[in-house]
Amino acid sequence: MFSVFKLLTKNASLEILNFAKSPFIKIQKNEMHSKVIIVGSGPAGHTAALYLSRATLEPVMFEGFLANGFAPGGQLTTTTDVENYPGFPDGIMGPEMMEKFRQQSLRFGTKILTETISKVDLSSRPFKLWRENAESKEPDTADAIIIATGAAAKRLNLPGEDTYWQKGISACAVCDGAVPIFRNKSLAVVGGGDSAAEESLFLTKYASHVYVCVRRDKLRASKVMANRLLSNPKITVLWNTLPIECKGDGKLLNNIIIKDTKTNEIKELKVNGLFYAIGHVPATELVKGQLELDQDGYIITKPDTTYTNIEGVFAAGDVKDKKYRQAITSAGSGCMAALECERWLSECAE
Ligand SMILES: Cc1cc2nc3c(=O)[nH]c(=O)nc-3n(C[C@H](O)[C@H](O)[C@H](O)COP(=O)(O)OP(=O)(O)OC[C@H]3O[C@@H](n4cnc5c(N)ncnc54)[C@H](O)[C@@H]3O)c2cc1C
Repeated sequence: MFSVFKLLTKNASLEILNFAKSPFIKIQKNEMHSKVIIVGSGPAGHTAALYLSRATLEPVMFEGFLANGFAPGGQLTTTTDVENYPGFPDGIMGPEMMEKFRQQSLRFGTKILTETISKVDLSSRPFKLWRENAESKEPDTADAIIIATGAAAKRLNLPGEDTYWQKGISACAVCDGAVPIFRNKSLAVVGGGDSAAEESLFLTKYASHVYVCVRRDKLRASKVMANRLLSNPKITVLWNTLPIECKGDGKLLNNIIIKDTKTNEIKELKVNGLFYAIGHVPATELVKGQLELDQDGYIITKPDTTYTNIEGVFAAGDVKDKKYRQAITSAGSGCMAALECERWLSECAE
């Protein structure tokens, strides 16, 4: 009886079996085998899902239940207008765009489960995956996995930060720098590395002036970037400076409070934008110790591919990309992961 039941429940995640309609047998099981499981539901995960489902590989996506602090759909669910994704000439709201991605994945048959994967075993095939709060149950299994768990920008958690997040505060100059609220306005950038230098220089295209708050009395940025930053007449570096509070009119940011880290002196800085350039954290806790990661925790993939060090495991999107971190590049690598996974399944998987 058990083995018949087990056979019947294969590929039937969370589905109640027909015979379970009986008042005496109503069983839900996690255990499921899939050709390919996608972990993560941002642009990378959904693009992979779209390609794999159109290729009739019946992908299963775990879209997460507030995984890594994000709603299903990922980082874009935390923003307003997305103006740089091709195909939307008037821009589109981030959550609406991700809902469209989701609908397109569903349309071709992707099975989407609103659950988080909390543990994986990639040591042998089929790979094993456990769902959050069901770690003691039998794992789901898959011949191939696409890791598309994304990343999160580091934040300072300042007073006022939640109120003005995306209403003057941003973690992406390339994404948000051109929006009207920042045009010809004074802006501030926090950070002293190459990203901070790059973001500050980018913002000079739009801003009247850019202040760069650097915690110490020197930059971590490379010499070339530091020279460009320091020689730009539209940029002032504020050494030994940390923002400690964000203020505004309740709708938009118009002021930050800064502190001198040496003298503890506190001042106001009238700016309409505050850009965090203090790094990102890739969501790789799940695969740490199993997949090869770089020193910042990003998954290492073979050059120009989405292949990881484990055959059958592919990585796409921000979780493997610390350079571009854009929706379009994530979607692009999701497409690559799907095509490479499809080829691998047909040629290599036993
Ligand atoms: C505020 C903001 C504004 C932005 N604006 C723009 C913009 O205008 N244009 C642009 O091109 N880019 C923008 N970006 C960047 C863009 O959002 C990212 O580059 C892109 O979303 C990365 O996509 P991704 O698929 O790699 O991952 P994410 O979007 O990070 O999505 C990953 C998803 O996986 C889920 N997940 C994580 N771990 C698990 C797990 N263990 N199990 C199941 N699910 C899991 C997460 O909950 C999340 O939903 C912005 C980013 C932010 C934060």
